[in-house]
Amino acid sequence: MSEFKTVRGMRDFLPEEARLLRHVESKGREMARLYGYREIVTPVVEPYELLSAKAGEEVKSRMFLFKDLGGRDVALRPEFTASIARLVATTLRNEPKPFRLFSTGTVYRYDEPQRGRYREIWQTNYELLGSSRPEADAEILLLTCNLMKAAGLRKFTFKVGHVGVLRGIFTQEKLLEKVQSAVMQLLDKKQYEDAFKLVESAGVSEACMPTLRKMIDLKGNNVLEVVDRVADLVKDYEKAVEAAKNLREILDLVLKSEAGVDLTVDAGFARGLEYYTGMILEVFVPDLDIALGGGGRYDKLIELFGGDPTPAVGIAHGVDRMMLAVQQQRTPQKVLQETERERTVLVIPIKQELRGEALRISQILRNVGIPVELEVMGRKMTKALEDADRRKMSYAVIIGEKELKEKAVVVRNLGKRAQSTVKIEDVAKAVES
Ligand code: AMP
Repeated sequence: MSEFKTVRGMRDFLPEEARLLRHVESKGREMARLYGYREIVTPVVEPYELLSAKAGEEVKSRMFLFKDLGGRDVALRPEFTASIARLVATTLRNEPKPFRLFSTGTVYRYDEPQRGRYREIWQTNYELLGSSRPEADAEILLLTCNLMKAAGLRKFTFKVGHVGVLRGIFTQEKLLEKVQSAVMQLLDKKQYEDAFKLVESAGVSEACMPTLRKMIDLKGNNVLEVVDRVADLVKDYEKAVEAAKNLREILDLVLKSEAGVDLTVDAGFARGLEYYTGMILEVFVPDLDIALGGGGRYDKLIELFGGDPTPAVGIAHGVDRMMLAVQQQRTPQKVLQETERERTVLVIPIKQELRGEALRISQILRNVGIPVELEVMGRKMTKALEDADRRKMSYAVIIGEKELKEKAVVVRNLGKRAQSTVKIEDVAKAVES
């Protein structure tokens, strides 16, 4: 046996898993269609300078970075947003606003591999550009909610916050941008004490530290109430109050949509990427301690890349983790059956000389969209039928000389173990019934 293996953190998807992957991805595509997000395809390899511009230290340190043969510093994309911001700042600069973009594919991060954590990551990604209004934020959240449902998940919750609250406090306390980002990274990793130390060492006002400590504890699913308490707590920080009000408006819209979203507001919530400026969100399922999706508002990124000021909000969903959640909450087979009630047909020529006819009849079926496999092992009919049974195929079409003379074949329903002779022109109908 060969000793070749996949690279650490990279994985194969065998047919059953690949089917589930494509199922989740197809639901992502369906959501894009339903919400008016047009697909764009961007390169997997981008300039390191672009990808690192506002990624944050954590993501930067985990990039697959290398020099190409031309000596350029390039990296495998760790996310889609930077590529999209590049396009919006350049080629799509004059696109009428708002516009909605969808991407799907793989991103790469040098994370420590474990269950639900890989180095090649499949994502569906949505960006809504040109609107700074709360209904845009609400749309991203509701789209995610509908995607989770469509993928087959029954239980999931959203964790929502707003980076503007913490940033509002830090800016008024005159923390340098760099320090602010470092604090946010620590909060993202729940290293609260280290984060507080860093804030304290910047020489903040006396009221600041107790406010921050109280903020970390402010969370709950009575979301409007929690946001009101946040607004009250930060009342001396003008920008922070504005941020809390913005979050309140977004959540109020989400509640009014009556989508039945399970929400928790967490005032100490932060995310690793530096470019967020407003609402941030993550989606979780019970029993999995890792987020299935994450995103938020980033109003300054396009400008940073040299584009016109363009407010934006977006989200990426981890398809690998959604697959894990589906496997945990449901029988994946059932989920697949609900969406793909596909009949599969095996065509068996009972003699070598009938292979041409078998190909012709297979073609007739495929031309009307019926998936057909041809018996290519030259097996006897009983062996071929046994194999089709094992693989739970729906029908066998048996090509025999006697029937062919009558322009007919035998169609066998493998589930019911019943068969009949059918005119070739009626085969498609017979295997669809
Ligand atoms: P992020 O932008 O970091 O929030 O990533 C968006 C989503 O991608 C996360 O919510 C995860 O579902 C997924 N994701 C991120 N990193 C990994 C990883 N190493 N392995 C699997 N999924 C990941």
